[in-house]
Amino acid sequence: GRRKLIAGNWKMNGLKAHLSEVSAIAKLAGARDDIDVALFLPATLIAAAAPLADGVLIGGQDCHQAQSGAYTGDISAAMLVEAGAGATLVGHSERRAYHGETSADVAAKAAFAHGAGLKVVLCVGETLETRELGDEEAQDWVVDQLLASLPEGADPDWLTIAYEPVWAIGTGKVATPPQIAAMHATLRAALVARLGEKGAAMRLLYGGSVSGDNAADILHLPDVDGALVGGASLSAAKFAPIIAAA
Ligand code: 13P
Repeated sequence: GRRKLIAGNWKMNGLKAHLSEVSAIAKLAGARDDIDVALFLPATLIAAAAPLADGVLIGGQDCHQAQSGAYTGDISAAMLVEAGAGATLVGHSERRAYHGETSADVAAKAAFAHGAGLKVVLCVGETLETRELGDEEAQDWVVDQLLASLPEGADPDWLTIAYEPVWAIGTGKVATPPQIAAMHATLRAALVARLGEKGAAMRLLYGGSVSGDNAADILHLPDVDGALVGGASLSAAKFAPIIAAA
C-alpha cells in the first residue's frame, strides 16, 4: 500500500523565530511512524531546521535544472542537499504563474533534483478558468500537464505528485470531495497507463485550502495519499489536526 504523506509548504513565510514550529511539528511527526511528514521551507531556514526535524523530511520549494552557473537568485539541487534538505517541490503553480516555469522546465528540474539525491513532489493543477470549462475538461487539462511534467525515469521511490487546483490555493475554497476523487482517479489512470506498476504505487497528494476541518474528508478518499498544505502548515497547532486525520 501507499504510505500517506502529509506535507507543509511554508512558501515565503518563516524566519528563525518560527523554528520552534518546526520542532513542534517534528514532535507530532515522531509520534506517527505509520505516515510520512515533510516540510518545504524557505531555503534560508533549511540548514537551521534540518537538525531540529528528526523524522520530518525537510525540503526546498524549487531548484534549478542546471548544476551551477549564471542564474541569479536561483538555487541548485546540490545547495539544497548541502543545507540538509532531502527533498524539493517542483512545478508549484506559484512558480509556474509568477516565474514562467513550463512543464518542460518542471520535468527537467525533477530529473535533476533526483540525480542530486533529492525526493521530489511535483505539483500540477488547473486554474479557475479551466475548471469553469467543466470537470472533464479540467481533468483532461491536468492529465496533459502531468504527462508533460513527468521526468525521465519517474519512480514512486522518489517522486510524488501533488494535485493543487489553483482556485483552491489560499482561497479557503476547497475542491469538493467528488471533484477531488474524480481528478485523482483520472490522474491515477494516466500514471498507470504511462508507468504501469510504478504509476499505481506513486503517491497522489491533494493541496488547496486543506485544514483541520476538511482533512479527514479529503484524506479518506480513494487515491488520495496525503496532502500538501500551505497556510495551515505554518503552525504546529493548525497542522496537528491534519496529521491526526491521516
Ligand atoms: P493553502 O493550503 O494555503 O491553500 O496552500 C496550498 C498550497 O499551495 C500548498 O503548496
